[in-house]
Amino acid sequence: MKKKSALLAMTTDHPEWGKFMARLHGPRGCNARQKKGVGTIYTCGHESDRPRIRAILQEMGDVDIPHTMGCFTKRGLMCDCAVARSGIAPAPKRVLPEQRSWWEIMMSRP
Ligand SMILES: [Zn+2]
Repeated sequence: MKKKSALLAMTTDHPEWGKFMARLHGPRGCNARQKKGVGTIYTCGHESDRPRIRAILQEMGDVDIPHTMGCFTKRGLMCDCAVARSGIAPAPKRVLPEQRSWWEIMMSRP
């Protein structure tokens, strides 16, 4: 039997990072939404154990959750919405003239 490969932390290097960020911005994550005059708002209790991220990672499986949390802490992203707001993402292929975050671009794809 092949040795089970080590679990990866959910970082920008992870192949599923885009999927993770999409879920984090979705209704079961921070439910990011646009509010007139305010901009993007997020649902977050600002808990340092990041319960939404933890739930998403547990659902995705095959992720080194403690290592992931450590990576976010190192970057100063102390809660779910901080990670969502950070927009840590693979470099976009091109920069659009209007101010859109990478995930809005990604989410608007069919
Ligand atoms: Zn927060």
